[in-house]
Amino acid sequence: MHQIDAQSLIDPTALSKSAVAVVARLCENNHSAFIVGGAVRDLLLGKRPKDFDVATDATPEQIVALFRGARIIGRRFQIVHVRMGREIIEVTTFRGHHGGDTSKIAAKSNKGLLLRDNVYGTLDQDAARRDLTINALYLDPLQHLILDDLNGIEDIKKRTIRIIGDPAGRYREDPVRMLRVARFAAKLGFSVDPATQEAIGECRHLLADIPSARLFDEAIKLFMSGHAAETFEQLRRHDLLETLFPEAVDALDLEGAQELITQAMKNTDGRIARDKPVTPAFLFAALLWPAVALRSDEIVRAGNADGSPVNAAGQEILARSLQRVSIPKRFSIPMREIWELQPRLDKCSPKRAKSILALRRFRAAFDLLLLRRDQDEELSGAVKFWEEQQQLFPEIVGSQPPTEIPKKRRRPRRRKPEQ
Ligand code: ATP
Ligand code: MG
Repeated sequence: MHQIDAQSLIDPTALSKSAVAVVARLCENNHSAFIVGGAVRDLLLGKRPKDFDVATDATPEQIVALFRGARIIGRRFQIVHVRMGREIIEVTTFRGHHGGDTSKIAAKSNKGLLLRDNVYGTLDQDAARRDLTINALYLDPLQHLILDDLNGIEDIKKRTIRIIGDPAGRYREDPVRMLRVARFAAKLGFSVDPATQEAIGECRHLLADIPSARLFDEAIKLFMSGHAAETFEQLRRHDLLETLFPEAVDALDLEGAQELITQAMKNTDGRIARDKPVTPAFLFAALLWPAVALRSDEIVRAGNADGSPVNAAGQEILARSLQRVSIPKRFSIPMREIWELQPRLDKCSPKRAKSILALRRFRAAFDLLLLRRDQDEELSGAVKFWEEQQQLFPEIVGSQPPTEIPKKRRRPRRRKPEQ
């Protein structure tokens, strides 16, 4: 194992005391234990880690026996959550090789994977099955050492995203890794190693087999982590956006479409940077708006619009998008409301103004109108009209914050990689 002195590389005060305590307790009981993954990477980059994960050779049962407030979660991949004060440290047992022909593993769905996946392994094996070199660093916070067998530190210095092992084989094991490459390239501002990038060409079609619920989780990580605009660029660069939102890609040639989407993403990133609440409903509504507008035009041209063509288009685009990314109703309903309000906002009817202002989605719909106006000056009149109406009747609009925090499940399910 390649050992590196961590003293000069990592600020010890940035370490989570709870994570260090968990490692210490495991070590006192003759286990080996390390802080792993994103936390070590972020510490080396001088960033504050989101959370601290620990990997150990202790089994879930052995871990639970050592900590009060520890709970085993997950069926396919047993993880232990150790509660330390307000923090929860996720502790996993080293995972081993699943062996065999990886293409066969990917072709099969769950049952075959299930058994192979909970195979415990050594630290070396655990490192090799991680996705990126920069995510396969093991920090021993007691001896201040970093174990770096896969040259993660060098890749951090070179600012390179590199898949561990043969990229195509690793993508076949778990195609979501391609999205992770784009996500980390965007989040960290790193470049993607050529071999890691090239294999995406032959593997991106495999994302079609990933369950839409997992793709939704991934889409949230891609677009709601504060780097949506750059992630959008990365996804476009690697032709990965079409694996998630083919409808959005089909409409990108529409004049102003890319600019509108990029601006929506920048706004979301800005709000996250300022700790303001954001909702995926608005972001996905903007992402798919050009597709809705395009479809709505087609419906109008075909002359078969019974009710509102935007409503019909919105329903269609949403239905098609849900086949790939299962956006839950608590977001998709507001998305449709935001779309359906656009033609009503365009009309500027003084008679209807008050009732429209009072609608729950008025502020979000107005935000989308602002983005549309930036691409289409003809909408300036409508923006002015609604600005005046809001000033005239602030008490009506004031009842609803511009964008609200989505209702979160108390205990978010974690979907673990299919490998
Ligand atoms: P973030 O700061 O975004 O949470 P992270 O590196 O902690 O980044 P997670 O998604 O929390 O990312 O995953 C934790 C660790 O698990 C990763 O660092 C990586 O080593 C491993 N991992 C996660 N997903 C996969 C995957 N699909 N294939 C292989 N290893 C994975
Ligand atoms: Mg993490």
